[in-house]
Amino acid sequence: MDPRAHGVALAAKGFLHDEEGLRLHELARECAPLGPLVEIGSYCGKSSVYLGAGARAAGGTLVCVDHHRGSEEQQPGQLYHDSDLFDAEAGAMDSLPLLRRTLRAAGLEDTAVLLVTRSAVASRIWSTPLGLLFIDGGHTFEAAEGDYRGWVGKIARGGILAIHDLFPDPNEGGQAPITIYRHAVASGLFDELPTIRTLGILRRR
Ligand code: MG
Repeated sequence: MDPRAHGVALAAKGFLHDEEGLRLHELARECAPLGPLVEIGSYCGKSSVYLGAGARAAGGTLVCVDHHRGSEEQQPGQLYHDSDLFDAEAGAMDSLPLLRRTLRAAGLEDTAVLLVTRSAVASRIWSTPLGLLFIDGGHTFEAAEGDYRGWVGKIARGGILAIHDLFPDPNEGGQAPITIYRHAVASGLFDELPTIRTLGILRRR
């Protein structure tokens, strides 16, 4: 991975381990020729840089889908709240300025397209087959199932579905991401690739 982008990814706020990020980078590079890459849940751009640098290396495009108002657990008073991202005038979270700063620092402004809206709204207007779909949005069952239903059918044959925050042990973390991962396995449409830490990876048959 290009060292400038890697440095930006390592420094960005976020919850993705470097090993997971480097695997996403490798997959992005491999899948970008199949179609655009879509990331659900960009937050401040950590995963966007790993994916975007891979897309750029292959001449592809990354689409970052996020409403930037924070997930359930990032709201004021919640476990993952970051007061630096609170827009007092709006009375709401706003991670968009940080995402833009991160992408600019990584030199990815011409590679990443930002779709600032809810995943369900974006999926309604999206029909281009995807080279890769990375789901790392809201972690409620409703949000994760919505991301799954709205987007998984759009992955091109040979493309990748990656899902972050798989916790086989419920004491380690929420169960919504691993539940949609299991749906994907049960659908018979995917082959499982090795999981990297909490990053599940499936290839569309
Ligand atoms: Mg995550």
